[in-house]
Amino acid sequence: MKKKLIILVGIMAIVVITIIATISYINKSNNEALNIEESKINIVTSFYPVYVLTINLTDGISDIKVDSLTDFSAGCLHDYQLTTKDMRLLSNADVFIINGGGMEEYLAEVIDSYPHLKVIDLSKGINLLESEVHEGGDNPHVWLDPDLYMIQIENAREELEKYIEDTWDYKKDLNKDYYKEVIDKLNSNTKAYLDDVGELADDMNQVLETVNNMVSEKNISNKVVVFHDSFAYLSNKAGLEVAYTVEVDEDTPLSASEVAEVISAIKLENIQYLFTEEQYDDTISDRIRDETEAKIYIIDSAVTGDADKDSYLKAMRKNIDTLKKALLNL
Ligand SMILES: [Zn+2]
Repeated sequence: MKKKLIILVGIMAIVVITIIATISYINKSNNEALNIEESKINIVTSFYPVYVLTINLTDGISDIKVDSLTDFSAGCLHDYQLTTKDMRLLSNADVFIINGGGMEEYLAEVIDSYPHLKVIDLSKGINLLESEVHEGGDNPHVWLDPDLYMIQIENAREELEKYIEDTWDYKKDLNKDYYKEVIDKLNSNTKAYLDDVGELADDMNQVLETVNNMVSEKNISNKVVVFHDSFAYLSNKAGLEVAYTVEVDEDTPLSASEVAEVISAIKLENIQYLFTEEQYDDTISDRIRDETEAKIYIIDSAVTGDADKDSYLKAMRKNIDTLKKALLNL
């Protein structure tokens, strides 16, 4: 019996050692691959929605490496402070792609520290709404309107193409055919993504237009309460009026006086809909749910998720369904 046990333990030990050896071998070859990639174009994106946009455009181009400055779980990055790890990543980057519109409040610090870093501002040329929470500031959540997101995609494509043309052949001494191939791939990726987002934009606009008609015919109430002003671009198109924006921190629950303020705003204006976001859902007090008639709906602002290329499309499809359910009873 003991002998059998010893043999069994021995076999298990061999299996474990083999697995560990295999894993470390795989890790080593992955690291070697990364080292090679470091000599190519290194793009850093500021946060999740910018990352998702960029990996769609650079898909299948092995000489472009894309990293996100922040974790995919970080969410919206208002008041974000750069860490030493971020600075290290940026010091090795060639291109830094930002959402713009004031989202990256640390931008001046980056430009000061890395004057040669190419910065691509995706909100260039977009008319921004005024922020509901920062007086005099812009509302940077443009990606949530698919029409504006399409402008961001085109901004990224145009600036990346320029960057490749201006610097790549000089820097890497690559032949013209090769970088033309890369630019063709960038353009065909962009076209494919714009086709998908365009289809989404049509569906979204149809819902928003229907809501807008119902609002102007006074068939539905046009007043909403929102948590976080990312919903502004869609509500604006739908003719909805944001009666109250609850300024929340995703980690801290609302204070008793804030809860009372929200409840009185909802009652005063007879508000039917409250739109929150997954990241803020837990911070909503049960008192708001219990003491008001307003129905609570969750909007996905596409600021968290996995590295899936289609995550923006999926999040926005879900938002179309939520808006239909909330405002059109569909
Ligand atoms: Zn935000």
